[in-house]
Amino acid sequence: MSDQNTPDEMHQRAAGLLHLRGQGLAKGDPMALPITTSSMFHLPGDPDGAPGYGRVDNPTWEALEHALALLEDAECVAFPSGMAAISAALFATLKTGDRLLIPSDGYYVTRALGAEFLAGLGVEITERPTTEMAEADLHSFDVVLLESPSNPGLDLCDIARISKSVRAGGGVTIVDNTTMTPFGQRPLDLGADIVVASDTKAPGGHSDLLMGHVATRDEKLLARMRDWRKMSGAIVSPHAAWALHRGLETLELRFTRMCDSAGWLAPRLAAHPAVMSLRYPGLPKDPSYDLARQQMSHMGFLIGLTLADKETAERFIEGCPLLRPATSFGGVHSSAERRKRWGDEVADGFVRLSVGCEPKQVLAAEILASLDRIQR
Ligand SMILES: *Cc1c(COP(=O)(O)O)cnc(C)c1O
Repeated sequence: MSDQNTPDEMHQRAAGLLHLRGQGLAKGDPMALPITTSSMFHLPGDPDGAPGYGRVDNPTWEALEHALALLEDAECVAFPSGMAAISAALFATLKTGDRLLIPSDGYYVTRALGAEFLAGLGVEITERPTTEMAEADLHSFDVVLLESPSNPGLDLCDIARISKSVRAGGGVTIVDNTTMTPFGQRPLDLGADIVVASDTKAPGGHSDLLMGHVATRDEKLLARMRDWRKMSGAIVSPHAAWALHRGLETLELRFTRMCDSAGWLAPRLAAHPAVMSLRYPGLPKDPSYDLARQQMSHMGFLIGLTLADKETAERFIEGCPLLRPATSFGGVHSSAERRKRWGDEVADGFVRLSVGCEPKQVLAAEILASLDRIQR
């Protein structure tokens, strides 16, 4: 287990989060976070740093960023989606002529953003599989974006080692920590410069919002990403910020249960004759296992399982009453999808399973029963 996130520190953060707002209240203040939707603020005379305009200032975002900062142990800027956060990190760090390294097997929209927009602005983009990131000529890149565990393949790369080499060459390392959340992996403690995350997934947790954030301990990078939000206008809805703030209060509870269930489920699924192969970083036989133990404090709630073919995989998903056939992951309800349908480079029968908060025995019984049915 990573010493960057001891259970003690994680528990302190989880407890601290639940009292973060309360400890700052004055008599008569509402306990729960209010939603402020004002575009204008009362602003006579010189601005003097007071809130002025809704594209720049909003008390509901600020409360959310305060909560995120406690979880990340770093300043955070909230964005309206994970992609808005990733865009902010890339546009704030890259310029024409720069070299960018991204994973060839990570979230596909990040690659599309590079190809469709950054390449046209003169950024030279190199793609490598997550497991081969460490062998790249890391000194020669201005920005390196990592995704570990990668979505959907669940491959890992050595965040500490890579960040160190990138920094030695004067570059910046960005880690997409969406699959792990700050409760499962702490890339900034491992040496990365920027964390980006889609809070649409486990942090929101109820499949009712889209959000994202960036986190960094570097003041210059923080200012750049804040300016990007202000100038690009990629700002957060106060309602979504409020909903995410509420979701964060149960993140540790949900995340630990989801990871615990996934860890319990993975060997049972791996042993089923309908499963051709299975990826879960917490299984001792998994190629990611040693690195996972080194840099993650939980093994995650995603399981990758390969079934015989497309039809078998679809029948498995649709035949299980406790699996929502849906894209995205990290909700309280378990969900699954065949990733090939979006063109990911995986087998036709590869299913990304997101383990939710259902009691694990009930969930396991239904999933195994659905696997039994596709066997026949
Ligand atoms: C979902 C996801 C994103 C994009 O997040 P949105 O909130 O949908 O914009 C980025 N990276 C990873 C790893 C994701 O899973």
